[in-house]
Amino acid sequence: MSEERLPAAYTTNMREMLGQEADAFLDSYTVRRTQGLRFNRLKSTSSFNLRASEHTLSLFGLEPVPWCPEGYYYEEPARPGRHPYHAAGLYYIQEPSAMSAAELLSPLPGETVLDLAAAPGGKTTHIAALMKGQGLLISNEIHPERAKILAENVERLGLSNTIVTSGTPGELSLRFPQTFDRIMLDAPCSGEGMFRKDPAAALEWSPKHVEMCAARQWDILQDAYIMLKPGGTLAYSTCTFNRIENEEVIARFTDSYPDMELITSKRLWPHLQKGEGHFVALLRKGGSEETEQSRSKRSTGSGRGKTGPRTNSTLRDAFQQFQAWAAIELPGFACQGVPLLFGESLYLLPESFKDTLHVGLLDGLRVPRAGLHIAHLKKNRIEPAHALAMALQPEQSARSYDMTEGGVEIHAWLRGESLPVPAELHGWTLVSVDGLPVGWGKASSGQLKNHLPKGLRILKAHIDEQ
Ligand code: SAM
Repeated sequence: MSEERLPAAYTTNMREMLGQEADAFLDSYTVRRTQGLRFNRLKSTSSFNLRASEHTLSLFGLEPVPWCPEGYYYEEPARPGRHPYHAAGLYYIQEPSAMSAAELLSPLPGETVLDLAAAPGGKTTHIAALMKGQGLLISNEIHPERAKILAENVERLGLSNTIVTSGTPGELSLRFPQTFDRIMLDAPCSGEGMFRKDPAAALEWSPKHVEMCAARQWDILQDAYIMLKPGGTLAYSTCTFNRIENEEVIARFTDSYPDMELITSKRLWPHLQKGEGHFVALLRKGGSEETEQSRSKRSTGSGRGKTGPRTNSTLRDAFQQFQAWAAIELPGFACQGVPLLFGESLYLLPESFKDTLHVGLLDGLRVPRAGLHIAHLKKNRIEPAHALAMALQPEQSARSYDMTEGGVEIHAWLRGESLPVPAELHGWTLVSVDGLPVGWGKASSGQLKNHLPKGLRILKAHIDEQ
């Protein structure tokens, strides 16, 4: 991309902002954009999977990203998004600078965390990995279609402590006042830092668009403030260079909410680091004690659509049926959590949901994924859900069938084909590639019937780049 293709008003702004450095900055548009992937440590706990990660390093010639221990650069012609390890959730394709935000937020296992603008899921999957699957992550995306992609990525990476919602920040703040230890707000922005990666973003840019983005960021921040616990931290990030959307929004925020303290902020510049443009600010809310008022407000819900926990007999029966099935088929799986039934889909909310929140708070909210989808209830039988397979380790299942990444079988499997297997294999079988689960098969009479959801068949590159 050459400087001539950038909006003139944008180039003028950047020259004013950077002074003598501007030439070096504008020269960065003549250099190829950087590409990266981040290993998903939720999948890399067993020695099997560590071997797969090491194999990936040499397969794609990966080089480490300095600010993210799990992040690596790759160069074309490598296409890691097309590899079976991608389908298995071993890594997430993510722009390297974007990896800085969750690192700065540093969520801890056991915390209650919100990712407020989450699709397609780069930061959510990073946060969940740092939480080591413990605690509760609510991952929200306002646009329902994007929320579906987010849910797909959450499932592919095997997140079991994550609820995907699709609400407005206002709908969420009504339900979850002073709830979260940490909040990630990766705000919608004018995208100046992405012009090299996405030249179309440059065409949409205008000073008016920047002002509109800043107004929207301010609105979302106010809801984030409501939801942050006293003593909690908020990461505000954008992929723009514009001060109006970065420093100025943050200054307005700390001026209006004096209990919000700016701890640090950082910018990633394409002429100084190997990555696209990014801004992240970390803020802390003063105070450490949850007020009695906020506690009681939350425990009684927002008053909107609250029906309380559903303990009806259909749900109880369904969960008992699943537990009986899992006792035989998944001897290594701890069936802990809060069960929820949506139609014929059975979900398991993280155990910690019960400690912090209650199920009635989800009423009236679009919830594409109410925790881990564990099963479909068919007439008097259980069919394990694809998401459950993706959250398991092969040793947790009574039966497993492993393939190697270089073989023809895995590609046939990902296209949705059934496979010939030894006749003694019978029943639900966890199918994996080099020890990484890719779904369920049902073995009978020497055939492994493919239960990969139709929408995931054929190695499509998941839309997880941002
Ligand atoms: N965090 C994501 C990731 O790492 O993959 C990228 C998020 S993207 C920068 C910003 C998101 O904000 C978009 O998915 C967009 O749909 C969403 N968004 C747009 N308008 C919004 C609004 N008014 N409130 C909340 N989110 C909004």
